[in-house]
Amino acid sequence: MKVLKTGAAVATALVLALTATACGGGDKKDGASDAGTSGGGKSDKVVIGIKFDQPGLGLKNPDGTFSGFDVDVATYVAKELGYQPDKIEWKQAVSAERENLISNGDVKFVVASYTINDRRKEKVDFAGPYFLAHQDLLVRAGESGITKAEDLNKKKLCSVTGSTSAQNVKTKLAPEADLLQQGGYSECLTGLENKSVDALTTDNSILAGYAAQEKNKGKFKLVGLNLSNEPYGIGLKKGDKDLQTKINAALKKMVSDGSWDAAVKKNFGPADYKNEPAPQITEGS
Ligand code: GLU
Repeated sequence: MKVLKTGAAVATALVLALTATACGGGDKKDGASDAGTSGGGKSDKVVIGIKFDQPGLGLKNPDGTFSGFDVDVATYVAKELGYQPDKIEWKQAVSAERENLISNGDVKFVVASYTINDRRKEKVDFAGPYFLAHQDLLVRAGESGITKAEDLNKKKLCSVTGSTSAQNVKTKLAPEADLLQQGGYSECLTGLENKSVDALTTDNSILAGYAAQEKNKGKFKLVGLNLSNEPYGIGLKKGDKDLQTKINAALKKMVSDGSWDAAVKKNFGPADYKNEPAPQITEGS
């Protein structure tokens, strides 16, 4: 009898331990945060991937708050999905990690200067686009030798791993450039300032944000080229039609109620960035 009782107790303990493991934190799916309970996005909080080092788009401020156009778009969309701002958990999504974060279920969606393209659509789906940027170059203010993409051949150029900017340089813009790929554009900016690189290339929206920062005033200039179209989408798990439809509806509403324009003015105004009008939604249709 005693043996039987002990056996039952061990079995119960084992079941409890297994249940705890299965339900424990760290087993995040669909961007449901640890604070939440169930998966499938029904949790209390939502995890959203953004950039942390791109002023004007996605920036983690010294006081721990987040700002930028992508942050405002994400906040608007989250609200439409039923998550108030205090229910958002921001997660850094560097360029090369965006597809992984989405397919692993670490985030519910990504709003991070994320260009929609076929290569990425093999792994994730997008809603949008919600913004159209163009690839350009940032050089030191006194620099006059770089006025077009071909001038970059044999020059030291910096961009970011996993970005369309780096890919475009390698495949078409300046295959002979000495391309240094960093984890984030802020690292490239440091290189441009200390002259270890001659130019930084990525979307004009990002470059304008850096050039306008108080600490960078007068140091850098955009060359003013239109080297590509970069339609920004909101990345989400492949096949999640329901989420795609809901996010598209939120984006349309953001444009029609004037919030999109207000967010553009607020975030790009200080950089004097001439934005394109809100693009038509094309994903999912
Ligand atoms: N929009 C481009 C991309 O998605 C460049 C900016 C970035 O790396 O976030 O690759």
